[in-house]
Amino acid sequence: YTTPFAMSSPTNKRNTETTRLSSKTKQTKLSSSSNAEDDTTSAGENDQRMIEFGKLEALKRREAVLARLLADVRNEKLSALRDRPLTIGVVGFGRFGQFIAKTFAKYGRVVATSRSDYTAIANKMNVTYVPLSDPEAFLAEKLDVIVLAVSILSFDSTVRDFAKYLKADSERRAKDMGGISLPGPLVVDVLSVKEHPRQVMLDLLPPDCDILCTHPMFGPDSGANGWHGLNFVYERTRIDGVILDPSAAEADKDDSDRESFRDSVGQVHYVHENNDAHVEGMDRMERFLSIWEEEGCNMVPMSCHAHDDYAANSQFITHLMGRILGSQGLKPTPIDTKGFESVLKLVGTTTADSFDLFYGLYKYNQNSENIIAKLRGALDDVVDNLVEFEKKDKSAAPKWAKNMTISSHKKEELCIEEEKKEQDEKSFAHLGVQP
Ligand code: NAP
Repeated sequence: YTTPFAMSSPTNKRNTETTRLSSKTKQTKLSSSSNAEDDTTSAGENDQRMIEFGKLEALKRREAVLARLLADVRNEKLSALRDRPLTIGVVGFGRFGQFIAKTFAKYGRVVATSRSDYTAIANKMNVTYVPLSDPEAFLAEKLDVIVLAVSILSFDSTVRDFAKYLKADSERRAKDMGGISLPGPLVVDVLSVKEHPRQVMLDLLPPDCDILCTHPMFGPDSGANGWHGLNFVYERTRIDGVILDPSAAEADKDDSDRESFRDSVGQVHYVHENNDAHVEGMDRMERFLSIWEEEGCNMVPMSCHAHDDYAANSQFITHLMGRILGSQGLKPTPIDTKGFESVLKLVGTTTADSFDLFYGLYKYNQNSENIIAKLRGALDDVVDNLVEFEKKDKSAAPKWAKNMTISSHKKEELCIEEEKKEQDEKSFAHLGVQP
């Protein structure tokens, strides 16, 4: 039984094991005449070993079959996506709008609109361009999805303007269909804050528009070499008029299986509800999400509320540090360390984003002022620690007296200590003794 196994085994290690086994078998055969019971035991052990070796082979074969099955499902999914490509409208064709439109164009038709004239850039990307001053022409492009990629600051006014035209468009379509109302486009935002756009869209968009809140946790710099492994946060917010409440599902672990969800009044709905409009809305949302999935994003379903809680202590401080370091005018040197290269990278990526984006993060992050205050305090604490060390270091000439950067309370404390020392020295001198 050693031959087929030895021939098929690819590694030296396994061949050695096999040789060891076969010589053991020969030994067993030689001694078989003298002890039949021993022989039975050794054969049993060997069988057991062979089953163990074979188990790994069998598992690898099963793994290969499953990998082929997964590849088939992915291909089928891709062709389903490509068979019925979405027409995606992008509102706001600035830095981020252009970045995502380029990828969307691989999967469907893209129509962009913005304040500035981006016709030339759009043409190069195979994207149709319509000026923002003509929203009717934009909506006449029969859009399945509208992605809002304008600045955080202009989001409210942009949605407010668009809502009027979306409402008129839905009335026109209902009139064309003899009074039957058809679902409006799926509206998606990509803002770096989440609770603010969620509320604005729920308040202002007509009820026939489904809503998806998203935040791609990357941008033109971090996603320049592809989106693989980058986080994409999303919340299915409204489907067929039902407002979802994912925070209830997050709290209720039984509901977090994504097959069901609670609406804002606590009613449980199923993802595959027996209702045409719901199924169609869900399908359109899934097709849009599949684009990010196909690009390799790490899909993170999360409520807007939870997103903002996490982002408060990560995103704003990253941008704040990048801006602070950037304002020091740091430049590469011929002897940069890896650490300094990371600092320059942080400065580069954060200052490449617009100040509007930074201000939007500050304005809509309830924690931003607190973060700034804590950072100021932390700088004082770190410098104060240095001064404490310096005080104990007899070999160092104290810098603190001329050092304007230490905190005022530390400076006061050090002045009092210094005055006391001088007074003590004077008193001892008066008494004619050494302190
Ligand atoms: P931004 O400065 O936040 O937004 C620029 C876009 O907003 C441009 O399309 C601009 O249009 C439009 N805009 C600005 N003021 C406007 C107004 N009053 N009315 C209508 N449109 C206005 O820079 P961005 O990096 O392109 O970001 C766009 C959105 O994507 C933001 O909401 C941001 O939070 C989000 N996002 C950005 C990143 C990133 O890495 N940059 C990552 C994830 C999400 P014009 O160019 O035509 O003036």
